[in-house]
Amino acid sequence: SLSDKLQNVFKKLRSKGVLTEDDVKEAMKEVKRALLEADVNFKVVKSFIKAVSDRAVGEEVLKGLNPGHMVIKIVKEEMDKLMGSDVTELKLLPSNEITVIMMCGLQGAGKTTTAAKLAYQFKNKGKKPLLVACDVYRPAAIKQLQINGEKVGVPVFTMGDNHKPLDIAKAAILHAEKNHMNLVFIDTAGRLHVDEDMMDELAEIKENINVTYTVLTVDAMTGQDAVNVATTFNDKIGIDGVILTKLDGDTRGGAALSIKAVTGKPILYAGMGEKLTDLEPFYPSRMASRILGMGDVESLIEKAQNAIDDEKAKEMEQKFRKASFDFNDFMEQMDQLEKMGGIGDLLSMMPGMSSQMKNVQIDEDAGKKPKAIIQSMTPNERCLKDPISPSRKKRIADGAGVQIAEVNRFLKQFEQSKKMMKQMSGMMGGKKRHGGFK
Ligand code: GDP
Ligand code: MG
Repeated sequence: SLSDKLQNVFKKLRSKGVLTEDDVKEAMKEVKRALLEADVNFKVVKSFIKAVSDRAVGEEVLKGLNPGHMVIKIVKEEMDKLMGSDVTELKLLPSNEITVIMMCGLQGAGKTTTAAKLAYQFKNKGKKPLLVACDVYRPAAIKQLQINGEKVGVPVFTMGDNHKPLDIAKAAILHAEKNHMNLVFIDTAGRLHVDEDMMDELAEIKENINVTYTVLTVDAMTGQDAVNVATTFNDKIGIDGVILTKLDGDTRGGAALSIKAVTGKPILYAGMGEKLTDLEPFYPSRMASRILGMGDVESLIEKAQNAIDDEKAKEMEQKFRKASFDFNDFMEQMDQLEKMGGIGDLLSMMPGMSSQMKNVQIDEDAGKKPKAIIQSMTPNERCLKDPISPSRKKRIADGAGVQIAEVNRFLKQFEQSKKMMKQMSGMMGGKKRHGGFK
């Protein structure tokens, strides 16, 4: 895989005491080959390599104590840049207006599934979504949307398969207005390949109704093709963002790396499985880590050193010792972890952790709600002065816009994290005290 190949390149660099210009050149040649094999767009590779080389050959690296790490750091930073450094989720209109999202993409890309996933997420945030069946070509398409809609508890609007998609979309918006719904997903038809009829149909919808966002769904497994599809859709009908599906598979990462750079449009979400809960915001930085395959201790230190300043780490360690770690600390720790690329990433880097974690089961998705939950707590609850009683749980859940089960899950996760952080703080503290991590 791409990460294996890059790992090899970095391993070679790491064993060097001093890094010469030739080392960098040689390494970049291999990085280039690895990226191309991973189906990253050629132009993107070229400018990427140039950006990394320019920085890596500079004095900064040659004088660095640990040149291999410097190169990894630069590669990682350039990858972040390529994919856009921030998370870009869809911003919906205020609830008294109807946000219309047109889902488009090739057949099998995941439009119908993703529409239901999104509807579900926004429903949980208090929006009133409507799924609209505008794929009138595939016989089973309407039924599929209805099944998905039922699973996530979101109504589906259909007029059967003998109306024009534009007419269905228009009627659906009227229906939404009448029923005080505020989020409409138009599930359009795809084709096996980019096709004039499909583009015309989408363009017609866009010209005649007020589409807030045109969202393109592409299959990450199709690599370079995904990028070409994104370019074509963007040129022909204009897209606002991309959803990359099937990132749970053994994808080569090429699409994720190239789409933003080639189209200028952000990746909004990542499809992580067939289940209707398997949708995550797209974290460019995590994706970069994943591509780089940073599953080792050295990178952990590298990242940890960048993100956690020593002062804070010490302070936390004291807290763990005194077992006074509370929700405020948890919040702070979450921010630190985010900077480091997520708790899942971090755990995978800890020696022996991945096998332990099999029993503990970290839910990456649940990692997104803690902040909202903590924010719904009173100051006394946050610092553990007031225990979270059942009635408090209910209030917190309501405040955070989540189910009570979610609060329970979080409280359990909090306890687990407390334990984990304790181990981690031991590691970090140990490093400081003994001046080495081994
Ligand atoms: P559409 O033709 O674009 O509407 O695509 P569908 O929504 O029907 O999805 C096609 C297939 O891909 C279905 O079997 C989905 O379950 C599957 N699928 C969609 N998104 C994902 C994903 O993120 N991961 C995985 N593994 N499968 C997905
Ligand atoms: Mg479909």
